[in-house]
Amino acid sequence: TVTLRGIQKSFKDAEILRGIDLDIAEGEFVSLVGPSGCGKSTLLRIIAGLEGATAGEVLLDGVSVSGMRAADRNLSMVFQSYALYPHLTVAENIAVPLRMRRLNRWQRLPLVGGFMGGAAARSIAADVQRAAEMLEIGPLLDRRPGEMSGGQRQRVALARALVRDPAAFLLDEPLSNLDAKLRAHTRTEITELHRKLGATFIYVTHDQVEAMTMSDRIAVMMGGEILQCDTPAQIYADPCDLRVAEFVGSPR
Ligand code: ATP
Ligand code: MG
Repeated sequence: TVTLRGIQKSFKDAEILRGIDLDIAEGEFVSLVGPSGCGKSTLLRIIAGLEGATAGEVLLDGVSVSGMRAADRNLSMVFQSYALYPHLTVAENIAVPLRMRRLNRWQRLPLVGGFMGGAAARSIAADVQRAAEMLEIGPLLDRRPGEMSGGQRQRVALARALVRDPAAFLLDEPLSNLDAKLRAHTRTEITELHRKLGATFIYVTHDQVEAMTMSDRIAVMMGGEILQCDTPAQIYADPCDLRVAEFVGSPR
């Protein structure tokens, strides 16, 4: 579970997050939506431990992680900007979390795209290959980030996030640099993966269709607050106020 209690964040005089409270259950898929600048990425970075909150608390499985380094929180994060290691090849980039943490959920799941096959532990190379194929970057494994397009880099970042077994996945507009066809394909893959892994996903997106189709719940943020957090159907049919209704385009 991911629990946010009264998260506030200020940069200089500007209050960016104004007391965010949210409980996300184990295995839940929650999308964060809202206009540009409302604080979605900042909130995700605070959960990840890449940024400190001015006030409030983040709990993972009930334990406060305030003061815990990002690397110790065991979260998989995909950024708006891909944050790959430029000096490593694609294969090496994807393998980083596997080298840090050998046994992962992939290897216990016989169903994930045939990822398992044999009974024994698979090699890192096989896991990397499988994740790369899923995201259609199999032929690029020997390239370096500088030699690829933005969309390709984003898929490498996704592959790297998916090969491990985190307490939660934090994805910040992971599909924004993909073309329409690949975006639809990858969206389906992520939904499928969520279903199979049963892992917790916090997913920031600008895309209404993505939020509506992928999420168990959608949190609508505006001006540093969560206005409403409900199922897609509830948000659409029963928006709590006009700003939510306008943002999700519901009929009233
Ligand atoms: P987008 O949808 O465009 O990605 P967002 O909801 O992710 O937007 P954030 O990146 O969280 O928005 O930024 C929220 C606000 O905080 C913005 O007004 C931004 O300018 C401001 N902000 C973010 N980082 C900093 C920083 N390091 N210093 C000062 N202000 C910042
Ligand atoms: Mg952002």
